[in-house]
Amino acid sequence: MNTDERDVSPEKTFSLLGNDTRIGIIQALWKADEPLSFSELYDRVGLSDSGQFNYHLNKLVGLFVRQKDGKYELPFAGFRVIGAILSGTYTQRAEPATYELDLPCIKCETRLEAEYDEEMVTVRCPTCNEQRSAFGFPPGAFEGRDVDELPQTFERWLRNVFSMMTDGICLNCSGRTVGSLVTESEYFEQEAEIGVEFVCERCNDHAFGSVGSYILQHPAVVAFHYERGIDLCEQSAWELEWLIDNDSRILSDEPLLVEHTVELDGDELTLTVNDELTVEVE
Ligand SMILES: [Zn+2]
Ligand SMILES: [Zn+2]
Repeated sequence: MNTDERDVSPEKTFSLLGNDTRIGIIQALWKADEPLSFSELYDRVGLSDSGQFNYHLNKLVGLFVRQKDGKYELPFAGFRVIGAILSGTYTQRAEPATYELDLPCIKCETRLEAEYDEEMVTVRCPTCNEQRSAFGFPPGAFEGRDVDELPQTFERWLRNVFSMMTDGICLNCSGRTVGSLVTESEYFEQEAEIGVEFVCERCNDHAFGSVGSYILQHPAVVAFHYERGIDLCEQSAWELEWLIDNDSRILSDEPLLVEHTVELDGDELTLTVNDELTVEVE
């Protein structure tokens, strides 16, 4: 990578994109699916003044557009701009809405509801009046998906975001995340006493989950379900009773050690999580 080209301040980077012609150039290269010559790109953007076009194109080259063998194409940063436009986090404002999900509450069978407001999804049971999850969700992700698909889309999104954070990578800025067991958090619902929190060292983005949702990825837990006919890749986490019950027990305060039991068909699997988030099967 040419660091001279990349060493641009955030203000300058964003101001580079604040122009219709430049966004048009990036979109034309994305739609083309192959490198374009200057004249091909100029025709597709449809600007009448080639001098103006050249000026704007040159502003993008080196950062959002790559020039190679006399043609233009999108580098990774250009695709990220397209991704941000399509996911709509910055460009669309989805209206607040409540969706009745095709997913029963495991405790009372009422259909779960998802409220969407200010790019946040809150899944709750209206009868038990219990919140299942709350998470950020880009408005563009609603496009082309009908309401039947929402439970799975929400759940996959949440699980993958959490999985990236637990793997040490921030989805927001790709910085390093660090995780810990926490006994105090603004995210706690009334009965929760302990959870797992991941914080990005760079952008300070947070992800908070129950101890159950953290151990859900452990191979022993995956195998325990699989042996009892449940594929955790298919199964919605909102239908797992042991996970909803959120029954973690603190074994030691200093250092923190937590125990969590996975229960299925009368069988039990107990795991511990220590303050370094190491999981062990008891
Ligand atoms: Zn309920
Ligand atoms: Zn970050």
